[in-house]
Amino acid sequence: MYSDTRRISDKQIASGLQLALEQAKAAKKQNTYPIGAIITDFDGNVIAQAHNMVVPKQDPTAHAEIEVIRKAGKYLRENKYQSVLYTTIEPCLMCMGAIIASDISMVVWGVNDRYGGAAEFVLNEYKKENTRKPDVISEPDSDIAMEIRELMREWEQGRGYSDENWV
Ligand SMILES: [Zn+2]
Repeated sequence: MYSDTRRISDKQIASGLQLALEQAKAAKKQNTYPIGAIITDFDGNVIAQAHNMVVPKQDPTAHAEIEVIRKAGKYLRENKYQSVLYTTIEPCLMCMGAIIASDISMVVWGVNDRYGGAAEFVLNEYKKENTRKPDVISEPDSDIAMEIRELMREWEQGRGYSDENWV
């Protein structure tokens, strides 16, 4: 797993997740999956912000993490292992792959996703000799986690699902 001496403060974590949550709320207004993501440097400067665009773009791959990586593309190419990606929900398999391919150092997510989340699988099972895997921080803030769960629950109920994933 990728690891170095750089760390981010609790304050950075809280404000990064808050910005991701605001993106998730913006996604909800566009009637798409209420998931948001941002990329910052290690000083907390915001490089890019985005949210899920699956419904507006009719693109099943337009997850928040993919959208924000595309917006931050030039920065990520020029600043390898200099960035932190915050997302409201644990990344899926596709997004974990994109995060590794983008040389992002650290991923912070607000809520674990026991249905579609693949971070644990990628970090534990994918190519054990791969040293480019990011460090992760999962569900660090219970207040933000509750808000994210509520958004997801409303979204799932609104489209007729009543699974208990976000309770
Ligand atoms: Zn994804």
